[in-house]
Amino acid sequence: KLVLGIETSCDDTAAAVVDETGNVLGEAIHSQTEVHLKTGGIVPPVAQQLHRENIQRIVQEALSTSKVSPSELSAIATTVKPGLALSLGVGLSFSLQLVDQLKKPFIPIHHMEAHALTIRLLNKVEFPFLVLLISGGHCLLALVRGVSDFLLLGKSLDIAPGDMLDKVARRLSLVKHPECSTMSGGKAIEHLAKQGHKLHFDFKPPMQRAKNCDFSFTGLQHVIDKIITQKEKEEGIFLIGRVGKISNPGLCLKIPVCFAGIQKGQILSSAAHIAAAVQHTTACHIAKRTHRAILFCKQRDLLPQSKAVLVVSGGVASNLYIRKALEIVTNATQCTLLCPPPRLCTDNGIMIAWNGIERLRAGLGILYNTEGVRYEPKCPLGVDISKEVGEAA
Ligand code: ATP
Ligand code: FE
Repeated sequence: KLVLGIETSCDDTAAAVVDETGNVLGEAIHSQTEVHLKTGGIVPPVAQQLHRENIQRIVQEALSTSKVSPSELSAIATTVKPGLALSLGVGLSFSLQLVDQLKKPFIPIHHMEAHALTIRLLNKVEFPFLVLLISGGHCLLALVRGVSDFLLLGKSLDIAPGDMLDKVARRLSLVKHPECSTMSGGKAIEHLAKQGHKLHFDFKPPMQRAKNCDFSFTGLQHVIDKIITQKEKEEGIFLIGRVGKISNPGLCLKIPVCFAGIQKGQILSSAAHIAAAVQHTTACHIAKRTHRAILFCKQRDLLPQSKAVLVVSGGVASNLYIRKALEIVTNATQCTLLCPPPRLCTDNGIMIAWNGIERLRAGLGILYNTEGVRYEPKCPLGVDISKEVGEAA
């Protein structure tokens, strides 16, 4: 069995060809990150245009590097939910044309299901296992009981952790930092945090009293926003004009002080302390909710009592500090922590092709007639039992 997977749900145009045993035969990806960094966020029509410009080339490249002729494909799998409407639309209409042309079955894919199943391409992970997905657009904890059998234990009630870290990074003007200029907001925070102290600012972890597995990040973001504003006023330390050597006095006044007279290893400033504290608070919050989910599943015999597996994926999963916090939780609960490598944690075509293979093997959701197939910008993953989790505590 061979599946071509196509992904355009957000800001990456990606495609891959994967075989039944998980071999990646061909792969291609076009990232729009640099364009969106300049606008300070994704502008959907811009994303749509870039998907349109690149999809043909990316799919072609995945196919040609795989040396598989299109006629050999068993099926074409494409992300149809959830995601940005304009982005999903490009991938879906391109795929439907291809399906028509090649006369192949079509497998519509749920983006989060694909993230959750990616680990099975690499490791022999049996169902059931627990998955924590933390990225720029998503934040959820789910029990994976089968290829298409999910129990949603908790989700973010507002924004996702990656989105919050991106907003804080933007507020701190980290893109102007020479060491961080090419990094995503979350990665820049992780980098800067190494030079600050996590307890310098005492941010309270969100939802301490809520006895469920839900998450929240806007409160924390607003608290940090206020602190930054206060520091800017009080100390004036965020004004580069007040301190150190200024290589170019004409530079804008609002660059945080830590970037003044930049010297490696010498960047101890409020910005670094804020980065360390926000990373610490985020890690605590995520670890606590995950701990609760593990306990709930074990109590209900939904997970094995020992050697249960926790899979962590999504862009934020590459944060080593957050991973350490999760390791503490898994060690304390006799669980095994597994993370796909970074390139498979973020959006890619491989996970979509692999989800296609999983669905082919399970005989689930394979369409021979694509009439009526639509994309769905919003679509929860599995059966939502988050209320029950809260009531059980
Ligand atoms: P989706 O939610 O659909 O998966 P996405 O593009 O937001 O889409 P990813 O590409 O998986 O998701 O992840 C990007 C997010 O991960 C960004 O918000 C980014 O700031 C965050 N991120 C990346 N590296 C790190 C890191 N080292 N620490 C914390 N956050 C990080
Ligand atoms: Fe994703």
